[in-house]
Amino acid sequence: MRCTKAVINIDNFLHNLREIKKIAGKNRKVCIAAKADGYGHGALPLSRAALESSLADCLGVAAVSEAVSLREGGIKAGIFLFSLADAEEIKDFFDYDITPFTADIGYLTDIEKEAKKRNCVKTVHLKIDTGMKRIGCTVSEAPSIAEFIAESKNLSLGGVCTHFPVSDSADAEFTRHQVSVFRKAVDAIREKGINPGIVHAANSGAILQHPDSLFDMVRPGIIIYGSYPDPETEKTISLKPVMSFESKVLFIKKVKKGEKVSYGLTWEAKEDTCIATIPAGYADGYNRLLSNRGSVEIRGKLYPVAGRVCMDQFMVDAGSNCSLEKGEKAILFGGDSAVSAESVAGLCGTIPYEIYCNISRRVPRVLLQQ
Ligand SMILES: *Cc1c(COP(=O)(O)O)cnc(C)c1O
Repeated sequence: MRCTKAVINIDNFLHNLREIKKIAGKNRKVCIAAKADGYGHGALPLSRAALESSLADCLGVAAVSEAVSLREGGIKAGIFLFSLADAEEIKDFFDYDITPFTADIGYLTDIEKEAKKRNCVKTVHLKIDTGMKRIGCTVSEAPSIAEFIAESKNLSLGGVCTHFPVSDSADAEFTRHQVSVFRKAVDAIREKGINPGIVHAANSGAILQHPDSLFDMVRPGIIIYGSYPDPETEKTISLKPVMSFESKVLFIKKVKKGEKVSYGLTWEAKEDTCIATIPAGYADGYNRLLSNRGSVEIRGKLYPVAGRVCMDQFMVDAGSNCSLEKGEKAILFGGDSAVSAESVAGLCGTIPYEIYCNISRRVPRVLLQQ
């Protein structure tokens, strides 16, 4: 196997889920975000582990193809489609038992037509936009769309939901307002004599900071993978990183003071030193912005990236009296190392979500469970 790999610690993953369960309690459902291949961790094995240990009830994905892969992998639990599908993908809702989030009559009519053709009833959830401005009907439209679903012979309202854009920030005001607006919209649906089904809203930030937003089901994403959604978010539960992105030193050479390293010759040796080459690059998800900025942990010590990160390899300055040997493990980030996905995200001007998602398919995911 390739030595550049993402080691996925299942015990830490289950630990994070247990922490979330403590907040969610026994009676709330937990829908884990398995989209983007489980934020780059491998959706299928982690979904299986979560479902088998009864720490999750259902899954959420963003693309129909992701739901199809999970079904083909044998997942029987409910799968929600958080994003919208293209018209030609709607048949897959039926073939693969996918529960869509819906927000407008046009889309609902397309789903209803397919259900009628198949002589069945499709359960859908109604997404209400309370401030994210991504998908969702307006608060005022919600009761009439809920009515459209409830009155259709081929549709059934399984739930009502919304989403929070700033639940992870220190400013709680906007989210509090959303919760109150959402609650009123759900009440308005009930007042029409319609059962809203499962009411849900909370993403990771809300689970950590907004206990009044938990409703009937929570939808954790980044926290199940061991990162907080934002450096500002209150660390109300203790998380453990699930991914350790690892490689090896596969080449060591001496360079003399004044010699330069890698594309563009942007790094120059200030003294005679040793340069170690690691077979991972930006095509693996080791971001090129880490050129001359990142560091890796080898045998408990940090070594700075020397020169530009290439597509498939990069170099680190191993120092003038280098004791590293070929074959030694290098942790690029995560696990127990001092280089966290958060610190890498900081250097790249992004969030840990993107750091994880960018670990490419070329990198094998290796499951670790004690
Ligand atoms: C991705 C997603 C989540 C999870 O978000 P996190 O910030 O990772 O917790 C929850 N709900 C919806 C609709 C999503 O798209």
